[in-house]
Amino acid sequence: MLGAGPAGLAAAHALVARGGGVDVLEASGAVGGISRTIEKDGYYFDLGGHRFFTRFDEVQALWESVLGDDLLVRPRLSRIFYNGRFFDYPLRATNALRNLGLVESARCVASFGRARLRPRGAERNFEEWVSNRFGDRLFDIFFRSYTEKVWGIPTTEIGPEWASQRIKNLDLGAAILSALPARLRPRRAVVPSLIETFHYPKTGPGLMYERMRAQVEARGGGVHLRAPVVRVERTGFRVDRVVTADREGVETTWAADEVLSSVPLTLLVQMLSPAAPDAVLHAARQLTFRNLLSVNLIVDHPDLFPDNWIYVHAPELKVGRIQNFKNWSAAMVPDASKTSLGLEYFCSDDEELWRMDDAALVALGTAELRSTGLLRGAEVIGGSVARAPKAYPVYKRGYQAHLDVLVDYVRRFENLQAMGRYGMFKYNNADHSILTAILAVENLYGADHDLWRVNTDTEYHEIRSDRKGATA
Ligand SMILES: Cc1cc2nc3c(=O)[nH]c(=O)nc-3n(C[C@H](O)[C@H](O)[C@H](O)COP(=O)(O)OP(=O)(O)OC[C@H]3O[C@@H](n4cnc5c(N)ncnc54)[C@H](O)[C@@H]3O)c2cc1C
Repeated sequence: MLGAGPAGLAAAHALVARGGGVDVLEASGAVGGISRTIEKDGYYFDLGGHRFFTRFDEVQALWESVLGDDLLVRPRLSRIFYNGRFFDYPLRATNALRNLGLVESARCVASFGRARLRPRGAERNFEEWVSNRFGDRLFDIFFRSYTEKVWGIPTTEIGPEWASQRIKNLDLGAAILSALPARLRPRRAVVPSLIETFHYPKTGPGLMYERMRAQVEARGGGVHLRAPVVRVERTGFRVDRVVTADREGVETTWAADEVLSSVPLTLLVQMLSPAAPDAVLHAARQLTFRNLLSVNLIVDHPDLFPDNWIYVHAPELKVGRIQNFKNWSAAMVPDASKTSLGLEYFCSDDEELWRMDDAALVALGTAELRSTGLLRGAEVIGGSVARAPKAYPVYKRGYQAHLDVLVDYVRRFENLQAMGRYGMFKYNNADHSILTAILAVENLYGADHDLWRVNTDTEYHEIRSDRKGATA
């Protein structure tokens, strides 16, 4: 098993439950991957904010069995900060009207009407896809700046398939539609109910994966930290051995009957020995990712704001989202008179932000937070930075052709399955990542699931109700 994030651990958990033997090889010193929790001075920091929400019964059952009562049910409250104001999210007509003002609201409605009456013919990118459904002005306010912060490229360079997969997940579309009087909604628009509660582990998502690790080990599985895979040795399309190296470069070789990999797909093909064909390596180099920086601040105030998180759409600020961890779970903060916040910044390897040191990032975060008014004059009394490389696979226009090359190649291996988020270069939530892991293990026991079909359909939520059809 390569990688001890949600996918790697869920696969290991499913395997040992069936009596199988497993070694999980993890590069870092912790389990949980980008769903890990960082503990500092008794404060627990999520990397972003990880809602546990799934429509897949087996994933929900797994989460509940692993955590029991430590899996809390939490109410959701989030708002959008734009133009110096806070918009309720889901949008509410009165609040939106008050924040936008009469003139801008009228413009939004007019541009929405124009988009419905005269949509652009082609939908070649994210911007065209969204504008066609919500109008240019709503696109500018509620989609453009946040999307560009996350991806670091203009919305015209992002493929439309990302919008079709994710807008429903963001539920902003539903939010906008539900804010409209029924007679103004597109005739066939279905307004799904928005998720008002979600599950959350008592001390953050890492708790889920630490417990999973303990359960895997209790059943005889091995979870090896600080064991980065450096080489995957093969004969033709069969993996024979996996090689890890410690800090001193001392290598350990692991014989492999079956390999399930959740390490970045691009890295996996580059680690093959003998090397993969040039065309495959070239395709791997074309796929890019965004990193996540979380500037974690401790504020000397018991109750700054009620939201779990706030989306920062304001283009003048670099921060993309602000998490308020005690509103996710009171146990995230050891002292109720304090508040801990996580400011999420998205960046690429070559950006200044990624190279900034911790002190500079804490200063930037503090200044940006103060400018939103959320600090209410309180003091920031502590700050640290968590860095998560390769957090977001970038669906840049044209990426699919490169990904197809990798998928076609990896599919040919008889004992290697790719699973998870970056493991499959997919913008998967944890539940999708875990589902691919569960299906990969079922494949080891005779099933014939096509993991690459999980979450590729626009209507991917339907997978649960028709899982066989969607994944077989
Ligand atoms: C900001 C943010 C917010 C999110 N919010 C949510 C949410 O609300 N709900 C939700 O369900 N999902 C959310 N997600 C998605 C969720 O974090 C991922 O789907 C999930 O962590 C993916 O699990 P994974 O095991 O596939 O990959 P990862 O978590 O990336 O784990 C992969 C593991 O492989 C290891 N690895 C890498 N290279 C090597 C190597 N060479 N050798 C050995 N090990 C290696 C890594 O160290 C890592 O531990 C969010 C993601 C982000 C970035």
